[in-house]
Amino acid sequence: MKPTLIRPGGLSQSASTSLVTPLMPSVAYASETPDQLDDQYEGRAQGYTYAREGHPNADVLARRIDAMEDAPQPGMMVGSGMAAVTAVLLGLCKAGDHVVGGDQLYGRSLRMMRDDLPRLEIDTTLADPTDVQAVEKALRPETRLVLIEVVSNPTLRIADLAGIADLCRARDVLLVVDNTFTTPRAVQPFAFGADVVLHSVTKLLAGHSDVTLGWVAARASGHAKAIYDFAVTTGLTPSPFDCWLAERGLMSFDLRFDRAETTAARLAEHLGQHPKVKRVLYPTRPDHPDRARAQGLLKGRGCNMVSFELDGTRAAANAFTKAADRIAFAPTLGDVGTTLSHPASSSHRALSSDQRAAMGLSEGFFRVSVGLEDPDALFSVFDAGLAAVGENA
Ligand SMILES: *Cc1c(COP(=O)(O)O)cnc(C)c1O
Repeated sequence: MKPTLIRPGGLSQSASTSLVTPLMPSVAYASETPDQLDDQYEGRAQGYTYAREGHPNADVLARRIDAMEDAPQPGMMVGSGMAAVTAVLLGLCKAGDHVVGGDQLYGRSLRMMRDDLPRLEIDTTLADPTDVQAVEKALRPETRLVLIEVVSNPTLRIADLAGIADLCRARDVLLVVDNTFTTPRAVQPFAFGADVVLHSVTKLLAGHSDVTLGWVAARASGHAKAIYDFAVTTGLTPSPFDCWLAERGLMSFDLRFDRAETTAARLAEHLGQHPKVKRVLYPTRPDHPDRARAQGLLKGRGCNMVSFELDGTRAAANAFTKAADRIAFAPTLGDVGTTLSHPASSSHRALSSDQRAAMGLSEGFFRVSVGLEDPDALFSVFDAGLAAVGENA
């Protein structure tokens, strides 16, 4: 057999321009000379070296999300929304620091506050982000950052983003906003003064429940570098294929968001008129506790999430999901299809029933992530589910 090189023709260059971003799964990137590598590592030249440090599909996607969030510095893609939370908390904090978190953060973020940060000698306090005084009371001289979400899950309370941003600025504390629920279509936290914004791209931005990804960007280049270095050192960087798929999903994000939001507002109204529904939570409803703030912050818009409560027990919840089985009963949100979640048996199952009751999460409480179905077809599935409630109970 004639000896040959693995790549006898060198590296291929396409002669045509592809309409679609090419998928680049390469782990390593070749350089011409050590001088060229020096230039790349010292920031004098652009280029890739090794995929964990960065790759083209991640950068193409990150630039798109940067533009949507109007990010002051280029952001980066990481392997999940939780990887973004981790990179921020551990990239920016050290032992002895203190962190304040919203008291209704995403479940795993709460767990990081309660279990992981204290284990690393980073003390944490949870505070109600709808009440700026409660957040102020939680601050200490050693508080490094405040982490909030704008719309809480699953009760859809609206944080006092402007008030907390002013407080953080006055007290020289970093404000970190997880903008997954609201998305830049509704709120751009950098415009309010956030220092760091992050996303679970897994949800609405990618939108098709086929990738797990996160994005994070910082206002200050020093913070961006600290987050980047931590993420790269600890291997939080994402797969090219996931970035490529998410870029495809992102193409239709605006249309998907607007459609889902319009249907969600109608669903909230539909459920609100149903005799078996005790309570509906939606930011633009007149009975929403933070309606005035939602009006200002979300510019009169809602979101794709609706929560509602049946007057009932676990049996009623079981009857509803069984009869409404054409809607996926699944613990995610932001998918093209409507999904239904039941906090008492999933996201909030670790809490006692008293703790859940204090948050207004009874056995009859459901959260709906509205998708792109025909609204009337969707409402008829809800009606079928509601018709089954209490029938044999
Ligand atoms: C899902 C979610 C996360 C975590 O994202 P993953 O991509 O699942 O790691 C963080 N924050 C919020 C608000 C979320 O909904």
